[in-house]
Amino acid sequence: MTAATLFRLEDSYAHAVPALSRPWTAVKPSAPALLLLNRELAGELGVDPDALATPEGVDVLTGQAPQGVPTLAQAYAGHQFGAYSPRLGDGRALLLGEVVDSEGRRRDLHLKGSGRTPFARGGDGLATVGPMLREYLMGEAMHGLGIPTTRALSVVATGDPVHRERVLPGAVLCRVAASHLRVGTVQLAAASGDETTLRALADYVIARHHPEAADASSPYLDLFERVVDAQARLVAQWMLVGFIHGVMNTDNMTLSGETIDYGPCAFLDAYDPATVFSSIDTQGRYAYGHQPAVAQWNLARLAEGLLPLIDPSTDAAIEQVTDVLRRFGTRYDEVASAGMAAKIGIGTPDRKLISDLLVLLRDQRVDFTLFFRALAAGTASALFTDPEPFERWSARRERLLPSDRAAPADQMNRVNPVYIPRNHRVEEALDAAVAGDLGPTIRLLEALSRPFEERPGFEDLTGPAPDDAPPHVTFCGT
Ligand code: AMP
Ligand code: MG
Ligand code: MG
Repeated sequence: MTAATLFRLEDSYAHAVPALSRPWTAVKPSAPALLLLNRELAGELGVDPDALATPEGVDVLTGQAPQGVPTLAQAYAGHQFGAYSPRLGDGRALLLGEVVDSEGRRRDLHLKGSGRTPFARGGDGLATVGPMLREYLMGEAMHGLGIPTTRALSVVATGDPVHRERVLPGAVLCRVAASHLRVGTVQLAAASGDETTLRALADYVIARHHPEAADASSPYLDLFERVVDAQARLVAQWMLVGFIHGVMNTDNMTLSGETIDYGPCAFLDAYDPATVFSSIDTQGRYAYGHQPAVAQWNLARLAEGLLPLIDPSTDAAIEQVTDVLRRFGTRYDEVASAGMAAKIGIGTPDRKLISDLLVLLRDQRVDFTLFFRALAAGTASALFTDPEPFERWSARRERLLPSDRAAPADQMNRVNPVYIPRNHRVEEALDAAVAGDLGPTIRLLEALSRPFEERPGFEDLTGPAPDDAPPHVTFCGT
């Protein structure tokens, strides 16, 4: 039997910077079964979803039928919880290749859970059904919200057991990304001391993600500024929907500005900047309210990597990147305050009004998603245990509203989701899926695909878990 050719994949990355990846092959699953296939995304990639759903297609989606180019494990370094790891890389993942999609964009196809690689360190190279479905769900939720993100094309159950604290069913995710180039990729290239590799990497990033930088008077500084800009926007968008990434290590921050690595992420329910869900984030380094500062810290690590390309004089280079890095705050504030103004239906940002609201929401532990829809509907008072301070705030807001009252409600509903992946609903859906029933996961995906549109039949997906539910905890690495 000849292996199916569904994609015409390319390997521009391997050619551009050969030192940063190693050809490697995926392990063979013993009884592969397709659990989820993202048909819409398949269409975008120019491949027939029905073909992907055949056994030959599933071979492609598990790395058993390379599509014309060698599959690769990519190398990178990174700061994990602030500590530098010189050698990370795809420990349980492989780059299948690059596909040019129907709109001419080059995108990576990437496997997760495809076996140990030279970068596996102590890990088993495997992934399990629950967390891979979770990555699929969270990515689609972000996509539905209009936030730049990597997306899952498929989840295939391998039929093989994975030995963790318990024995869990194995799975392979196939992920689509603008690329898998990370802050940590630049860190590794810089640490190698091989300036040719570092320059080749930076040139590749410019060509692939930020081509306008090539024409700037200082292309690498301009590249840095564009990544700063993309990340400032991205993190502002996270904050506006209450998304907590959970593990913002520098190897989990892309140079394209897409969200990557849905491990311990979760959405806020009650508004509180100190919220942390991840079991391993004991210091709250990646708490909701710290995310902008952490992004800026990560970007400083990127800047350090790029210094030798920016100016032969290290002092001069530091001065230039520091200037750009300062602009992160301005850029972030612009996007975040314009976004908050839109959420509360006022035309121009009013910093004091917004910060006073956030204090109220925190003090009374108001649900960050329900609030904005209720505000548009005129029913927000009911969400406060003591509505009086809110009503005073509301009167201040009223004075800033346009005279036609219906219009802002409509516009607010276009930026304030009804449906986010509520932690308890995600857990329920995944538990059912692991037990063999994908129904709740598919239903949740349906609601999350159009999150701003209130639809009958999804009422149970709108609210947080009951107050007496145990606190939500998330895990990475499973
Ligand atoms: P993450 O926190 O998901 O970004 O993972 C950090 C690093 O650990 C990456 O290099 C992963 O490839 C690697 N890793 C995570 N889980 C495993 C595993 N089960 N086997 C091998 N490597 C892993
Ligand atoms: Mg990662
Ligand atoms: Mg991960």
